[in-house]
Amino acid sequence: MRTPVLRLIAVALLLTFAADTRAASAQERANPERSLCSVTVPVPPPPGRGGGAGAPAGGRRGAAPVIPAQPPRLVRITDDLYVVQNVNHTLAELGYFGGNSAIYLTNDGVVLVDSKSDREHDDLVGKIRSVSDKPVKYVVLTHNHGDHTGGAAKLQEKGATIVMSDDDREHLARAGQPMLVQLTYSGHGAIYLGGKEIRLTQYCGHTRGDTVVSFPGARAIAVGDLVAWPESIPQIVNYPDGGSWTDTLRTLDALVALDWEFLIPGHGPVMTKQEFQAHKTRFGAVVARARDLIKQGRSQEEVGATLQREFNWAPAGNLPGLMAEFR
Ligand SMILES: [Zn+2]
Repeated sequence: MRTPVLRLIAVALLLTFAADTRAASAQERANPERSLCSVTVPVPPPPGRGGGAGAPAGGRRGAAPVIPAQPPRLVRITDDLYVVQNVNHTLAELGYFGGNSAIYLTNDGVVLVDSKSDREHDDLVGKIRSVSDKPVKYVVLTHNHGDHTGGAAKLQEKGATIVMSDDDREHLARAGQPMLVQLTYSGHGAIYLGGKEIRLTQYCGHTRGDTVVSFPGARAIAVGDLVAWPESIPQIVNYPDGGSWTDTLRTLDALVALDWEFLIPGHGPVMTKQEFQAHKTRFGAVVARARDLIKQGRSQEEVGATLQREFNWAPAGNLPGLMAEFR
């Protein structure tokens, strides 16, 4: 479906650069090493990386996908904001359907945050159609992992414009999807559609270029895998894509200070501020404990076993990076 020219003029996507201390100078901007991240942990991607909230859709490559018993469900947050979320919060659902997708309704079209998996496309579109007859105009991808980007190509074929941070687009381009993203931003961006504002802010933590999408009119934010819960979906950082626990904790501190009532995580149910506080406290404790153990010279196996025993958190794939970050 082609957008009429006048509509295009009425729809402004403003791409601005952050004016705060993180803003890049022209020289830094020309430098591919520019980054919002405070630390860089050099960890190569493990072969066939998978497991946890950073896994690509269908993360268990080679194995036949486990078909979950129940399809994702549509959850209403406000009259104009919905989320499509998995029912039982299992890794099998994550691999099959992908992560959460937020649906924001305006009179001039729908803005989607994350696209679930390719195979979930028809069900996702059906759920959108059940609450709006307008086309999907923009799909904002919070980051570059397959469980969030897998459905984007089919939405693009139907006329949606795919938006992502410049930094995470580079990861997609390197992974062989250079043309999936059509619009990028760095620092801050915004979409104005149907009289509503959708703000984009870049953070570092799960990856180098995580996007937090704010819907001020709905008092809600969608944060991608900067937050994953409950414990059945262990939150992880993706070191090969520039993430770190140091920056994740900084970002969680920044998010709690924002004005919102509903937080849409990358995986798991919508959170209240109280639930987010508890989650942030839990991971503050996990990381503090990990740092202490690593400084004491404990082995990766000991660190993993202790975190699993004390916090029920030890996604094995995250441990080499954790050791490198705090050694
Ligand atoms: Zn992820």
